Amino acid sequence: MNIATKQSNLAGSTSADASELEVRRQLAACYRMFARRNMDDLIYTHLSARIPGREGRFLFIPFGMLFEEVTASNLMEVDIEGNDVADSGQAVNPAGWVVHRVVYEALPAAQSVMHLHTICGTAVSSQKAGLLPINQFAVTYNGKIGYHDYDGPGLRPEEQKSFIADLGNRPMMFLRNHGTLTLGRSIVEAFTLMHYLERSCEIQIMAQAGGAELALPQEHIIETTVATAQGVGDRSFGDVGFRALLRKLDREDPSYRL
Ligand SMILES: [Zn+2]
Repeated sequence: MNIATKQSNLAGSTSADASELEVRRQLAACYRMFARRNMDDLIYTHLSARIPGREGRFLFIPFGMLFEEVTASNLMEVDIEGNDVADSGQAVNPAGWVVHRVVYEALPAAQSVMHLHTICGTAVSSQKAGLLPINQFAVTYNGKIGYHDYDGPGLRPEEQKSFIADLGNRPMMFLRNHGTLTLGRSIVEAFTLMHYLERSCEIQIMAQAGGAELALPQEHIIETTVATAQGVGDRSFGDVGFRALLRKLDREDPSYRL
C-alpha cells in the first residue's frame, strides 16, 4: 500500500482508524523528538508500538529510514515476525525487530518498546554499577531497571530467554555495552521513561567527568522516595510533559503528522 493510499485510509471515519492514526502520530512524534536531541544512531535503533484493536500488528520504522524522516503514514505495519503485512514494499531490520518482538511476546501489557544507542546511555550501560541514584529521576528508577550482559551483536535465539529473564517485570533495561530499552503501557509512558533514563545517564556521565566524589542519598531516603514519588512512568505525569513537547513539535515542524 503506498503512502497516499495509507494516508487516505487513515483519514477514514471509524474509531479504529482514528485510534490507529493517533498511535501513528504519537510514535512518529517520538522519533522526531529523539532526532531533535541527537538521540538516534544513524539507522540502527528503533521505537515500536502495538496497533490498537489489531491483534498481533505493530508499527515499526522501515530499514534505512532516519528518525527525522519518520511520519505517521510511513511507519510500517508488521506482524510479530516482522513481515510487511500492508505491502508497503519496505522491510524491517530483522536484528532490530527481534529486540521488540521478544518483549511483545513475553509481555502482553507492553504497548510500546523503545531502544536507543545514545552516547551517554551506552556509556552508563558499560559501567558495572549501572545507573547511580544521583538525581531525582534516577532515584525514582531505583529497582526498576534490569541489566542484560552483552553476548555479541544481535539477539540470538538462545539468548532471548535470558534477555526476558533479565528484564523481568521492570519497565527499563540496560543492554550492557550496547544501549537502553524501555517499555510502556502506552507510547507516552515508554517515551517518558526513556526521556528521563537518558537524561539521568547524561547527568551521571557529566557528574563523573570532573572526578569529584559524588554525593549519594541515604538508602532510607531512596526507599521512601521510590515508595511515595509520582514516578515518571505514571500516565498522568507523563501525559503532561508529552503534550508540552507535542505543542513544541507542532509549532516547529508538524510534518510528522503526515
Ligand atoms: Zn541496539
